[in-house]
Amino acid sequence: MTKEKILVIGASGQIGVELTLALRKIYGEQNVIASDLREQNPLLQGSGPYVSLDVMNKEMLHVQIIRQGVTQIYLLAAILSATGEKNPALAWHLNMQGLLNVLDIAKEEKLNKVYWPSSIAVFGPTSPKKDCPQKTIIEPITVYGISKYAGEFWCNYYFNKYGVDVRSLRYPGLISYKSAPGGGTTDYAIEIFHEALEHEHYTCFLEKDTYLPMMYMPDAIRATIELMEAPREKIKERTSYNLSAISFSPEEIAAEIKKHIPGFSIDYKPDYRLDIAKSWPQSIDDTVARNDWGWQHEFDLAAMTTDMLENLKQ
Ligand code: NAD
Repeated sequence: MTKEKILVIGASGQIGVELTLALRKIYGEQNVIASDLREQNPLLQGSGPYVSLDVMNKEMLHVQIIRQGVTQIYLLAAILSATGEKNPALAWHLNMQGLLNVLDIAKEEKLNKVYWPSSIAVFGPTSPKKDCPQKTIIEPITVYGISKYAGEFWCNYYFNKYGVDVRSLRYPGLISYKSAPGGGTTDYAIEIFHEALEHEHYTCFLEKDTYLPMMYMPDAIRATIELMEAPREKIKERTSYNLSAISFSPEEIAAEIKKHIPGFSIDYKPDYRLDIAKSWPQSIDDTVARNDWGWQHEFDLAAMTTDMLENLKQ
């Protein structure tokens, strides 16, 4: 389709696998290079090039980008919210330095575009709980949220100061069946499907009425690609866009699963992740993304639940 050569960093992770496969369909298998610190995810095997790469090793990263003729980077390597609270120093180091390495190389090599995801974790207890707007009070309380908020302003800085076309979305919790989640607070909404099918029971680490913003992975992948393919002048938010689809509680998703598996039951044993969840908004207002580049979600809770169960049963 084009002469773009795309490098996906963190391609073996929950989003990386599906994003790499989707990009390969658009740009051609050989034009999308998957890379990760850990071994290649089996779902990517045989579908295109893979390089083993540590985003913290700037020199090696730079060499690969020149050698492979990379024109765009999707940076997905990060330490997520729940894991980050267990190792704050490492989370800060990877989430910040990884981004700065990529932005610096993008500037030097004049890459066409960079994608880097932020998260609803930028919001904290002082942000509005319902329909949290694009611009509002932002006082994150997790190291993950702090790193994402700082990262957003680095993206803004590199765009304004050096013209690096870096684009970003504040993903809500992402639900998928292909690749396992990477240690986030919204992981319960994936575990619940696996446990429902295997044991007809799930013990949830949040309370029953903990509402969180969520999205089904096909919507998230489409949002990412639509953002990246939008004309440059349409991308007016150069920190990161609020992005929203659905909001539900553990009790509500359990009720939806029960429609398919009548014997399913749930109980609740909240742990430290409840504090993280309670600091976040329950729903997000993404009007700015919808107006600027035409974002629209497709999957609601019912459609997502049906699709998850059908695919996991196979
Ligand atoms: P993940 O943990 O599943 O995947 C991250 C990948 O990065 C892993 O395969 C890991 O091996 C790799 N990695 C770690 N350190 C690396 C390094 N030094 N060099 C190269 N690769 C390295 O995470 P994910 O869920 O796919 O998330 C991807 C991005 O999206 C992250 O920035 C995350 O903060 C963001 N995000 C995810 C969610 C979600 O619900 N999954 C929500 C909001 C934001």
